[in-house]
Amino acid sequence: MIELGDPRQMLEWSQARRGEGKRVGFVATMGYLHEGHLRLIDRARERSDAVVVSVFVNPLQFGPTEDFARYPRDPDRDRLLAARRGADCLFVPDRAAMYPTEPLVRVEPGALATHLCGRVRPGHFAGVLTVVAKLFHMVEPDVAVFGRKDAQQAIIIQRMVTDLDFPVAIDVAPIVREADGLAMSSRNAYLSAEEREAAPALSRALDAAHAAFDGGERDAGRIVAAARSVLDAEHRLRLEYLEAVDPETLQPAAAVDARALVAVAAYGGETRLIDNVILGDGTAGDPRVRA
Ligand code: AMP
Repeated sequence: MIELGDPRQMLEWSQARRGEGKRVGFVATMGYLHEGHLRLIDRARERSDAVVVSVFVNPLQFGPTEDFARYPRDPDRDRLLAARRGADCLFVPDRAAMYPTEPLVRVEPGALATHLCGRVRPGHFAGVLTVVAKLFHMVEPDVAVFGRKDAQQAIIIQRMVTDLDFPVAIDVAPIVREADGLAMSSRNAYLSAEEREAAPALSRALDAAHAAFDGGERDAGRIVAAARSVLDAEHRLRLEYLEAVDPETLQPAAAVDARALVAVAAYGGETRLIDNVILGDGTAGDPRVRA
């Protein structure tokens, strides 16, 4: 595995692979890799011939009171895990390489950011889209794999690619979970023992929403209420939002006639946790991918 930090060299490497007739696959991360990230590498390998993994903790997507400074970092471990999993290139630009000057022009998600995380994290998705647009230009991938763990992010990125004609296919991979259902996340490292014990209530709440849906319930309010009752019983978590939205427009759904995204965010202490489930995509219960 080759490691690059310079965007110019990154582009040259990618273009050389394409010159050899290879398809370039891409996985963008903020590092502190876990099995959820590594499954994205697996998927990228299945869909391409040369896999680039980027690690960049993007300051643009953190709010002033958020955890940018203390976000977990372990470059040596990331290098080892990415190489072992078969990445061909690790792209680790530093802040000066990514933002030689403060970007005045940003990619705005518009109405797609008015709900869920976008509502409570102003500027977050503009920060995400701006860095992903830059990474797409630096890597020029044929296919980029994102996780459904960050469902709103994947939907907004897909929409950016469609609206702005990026020549890349977006693939969305299922959520990888711990044995007790907790969605894997670099931020889980922040959790105290007690918070960690409480955290699986998020996935249990989404299971309750799915069970209500499978039982024939189609009223979004009642489906959300079924999930909320699970979270109400877990006093160690502080609910931030729990919503059922249309999985394309991300606007609130009144009834779940076709597909709906039920998404939740809650705090365990200072740690923000998110999770989601898609209802009505033909699965009997959300397919559970365990690490
Ligand atoms: P992050 O490093 O948190 O920015 O995540 C990088 C990519 O990994 C994003 O596309 C995430 O959606 C994805 N990802 C993170 N955690 C998981 C998970 N538990 N299952 C699937 N994908 C994940």
